[in-house]
Amino acid sequence: MKEVIGVDIGGTHIRLGNPEKPESIVRFRTSERDAVAAIAGYCTSRGVTAMGVGVPGLLDKDCRKAVKVPNIPALNGRELASELEAATGASVFLENDTVVLLTGDIDRMNLADRGVVLGIYIGTGLGSGLFINNKPYKGKYGYGTELGHVPLFGVDEACGCGGRGCAETVVAGGALVRLRDRSYPGTDISELFTVLTDADRSRYIEALSVVLAGTLNLLDPDVIILGGGVAQMRGFPLEEVRRGILGHAVKPYPAEGLTILTVPKEEAIPAGVYGAWKYALGQIAVVSD
Ligand SMILES: [Zn+2]
Repeated sequence: MKEVIGVDIGGTHIRLGNPEKPESIVRFRTSERDAVAAIAGYCTSRGVTAMGVGVPGLLDKDCRKAVKVPNIPALNGRELASELEAATGASVFLENDTVVLLTGDIDRMNLADRGVVLGIYIGTGLGSGLFINNKPYKGKYGYGTELGHVPLFGVDEACGCGGRGCAETVVAGGALVRLRDRSYPGTDISELFTVLTDADRSRYIEALSVVLAGTLNLLDPDVIILGGGVAQMRGFPLEEVRRGILGHAVKPYPAEGLTILTVPKEEAIPAGVYGAWKYALGQIAVVSD
């Protein structure tokens, strides 16, 4: 009997469970206890045989070790896969959290046969993932794509990665919170797009369009999927961003074929847990081939 779970390690919460049994999905506060101990505690007496684990940071190329996890420094340098295997007796498949999310979204949105799929997730930061023929793209060090940390000319804001002027310091949730605090104090952040002045709105649209058009021109993807909390905020200017991208895209292609799909809102099953579970099932299939 196989019991496979998905684990989504986030900066605030660890969510885990089996998406086929929604009642099995629980969450812990990440700061409450060590991630390995929390996951092992959940697995006790549940007969978990395998787990996919989304980690919000850089893993080594074999996806066994957490090299750098900016929001959870306690995980830095840990042999996370081995530790979890020793603590739970289950097979453990780690991946970057954005790759895991994109694995789940490609499945939910039936995009497995779409060639080059670029996932853009605008949340607190700007995450991205690239799948080619349904396999995640990996570079020399196991990096996928780090669109959020592509530096922009003329921007000097400090970024959580230690760099300056990264794309996410302009277009992600942290930038919107700073804009709210500076110019729209007291506004609920979820309503920010509905109250922006024309100038602030245009600036945001142009910044995001430039980032995405650069990526479109570089990769010529079959499809771009757009998700994350910011992209799902009320009044998010999707149509304007689309027009903005077209303004900078190479004509006639990739401009004419630009396809942006928005990720459906997560319902009962957290997207990160679903993606991690799907990722584990895919890895188990590879191992048993
Ligand atoms: Zn950065």
